[in-house]
Amino acid sequence: MPSPANRLAQFSESVIRSMTRLANSCGAINLSQGFPDFDPPEAVLAALETATRGPHHQYAVTWGAPRFRKALANKINRDTGLAVDPDQHLVVTCGSTEAMMVAMMTACNPGDKVIVFSPFYENYAADAILSGAEPIYVTLNAPNFGYNSAELEAAFEQKPKAIIVCNPSNPTGKVFTRDELLEILELAKKHDAYVITDEPYEHIVYEPQVHTYACALPDAFERVITCNSLSKTYSITGWRLGYVLASATVIAQARKVHDFLTVGAAAPLQEAAVAGLELPDSYYAELQTSYARKRDVFLSYLRQTGLPFTEPQGAYYVMVDISSLGFPTDTEAAAWFAKKVGVAGVPGSSFFREPEHRFIRFHFAKKEETLHAAGERLLRLADAAWLKEVLALERD
Ligand code: GLN
Repeated sequence: MPSPANRLAQFSESVIRSMTRLANSCGAINLSQGFPDFDPPEAVLAALETATRGPHHQYAVTWGAPRFRKALANKINRDTGLAVDPDQHLVVTCGSTEAMMVAMMTACNPGDKVIVFSPFYENYAADAILSGAEPIYVTLNAPNFGYNSAELEAAFEQKPKAIIVCNPSNPTGKVFTRDELLEILELAKKHDAYVITDEPYEHIVYEPQVHTYACALPDAFERVITCNSLSKTYSITGWRLGYVLASATVIAQARKVHDFLTVGAAAPLQEAAVAGLELPDSYYAELQTSYARKRDVFLSYLRQTGLPFTEPQGAYYVMVDISSLGFPTDTEAAAWFAKKVGVAGVPGSSFFREPEHRFIRFHFAKKEETLHAAGERLLRLADAAWLKEVLALERD
């Protein structure tokens, strides 16, 4: 029998998505894979109904339906102050997942080094392997998940082709400040590297933090390859709509990669999503307020469990330190949480380069009632007698 390609032995299936399957099989409340249990905005749903009866059932233009790209460029220009040209600076992709793969394959030759902050969103390791790049890891140190400038500089000394920056960061909730991004850009300029950003949580940022668009910083546009998605902003993770935003030179190459990877994102969904892109500023303010409330609800339960955690500055994930429960690995702990506590999270080790088993990542992109139900289940952890009994059973 022929054997599959060697590169496939270097990574496993997504742990995030496997936790969703485990949650479903044991009836746990699923706070593992980050997606909402509430509907997209009404305007988007109405536009979807209309789009189903429109002339949008065949391939759209490979790099994105013109109407969608125009609305997207308008929104980006409003948010960033840039003058993005929908015909030159954008490729519409199947989610930020494809955008990242396109960015990596556009930027990197096999053997090139790429700086990745650890912990990192688990796709980046697979993106690096599939594009032939070799990651250099720079640690984001718990509990605040800051980086050490000397370590970052040392990583740049190794002549990477690119650095990946997830901002706001999944899984840590870190929001990179303007100064940090300027420092990263300065180093990238000095060592002639691309800055590849992944920004699907751009509108989910908690006060007093603000989101900084790296591509809009002075003298940055030619160097930054921005990957983004509509998934989280409009609660449409299943629509798989994302994009790459970059200079015309980069986009000319990125289009080729995208064209042969997927041909294009779903045409009727691009048509319908225009209604989302055209929503007024008040929509984004409300989204922010609503996520801030969800964060407060969920964190208030976590506080009562006594387990330490780092408050996210952005995105909708929280890394909870479960080391006090005494499990040998976080994978066992996460399975126990799903089966015995009834709340599923993702074992933190799937985001770390280092052998780190202290954390489970939970997300709170859920209706408040779901968060209350999950919170009530998590409160069992504060019941010493229950905990002792259940953990003893586990060890038998
Ligand atoms: N970004 C989400 C997470 O980290 C979902 C990932 C996915 O399954 N595409 O959970």
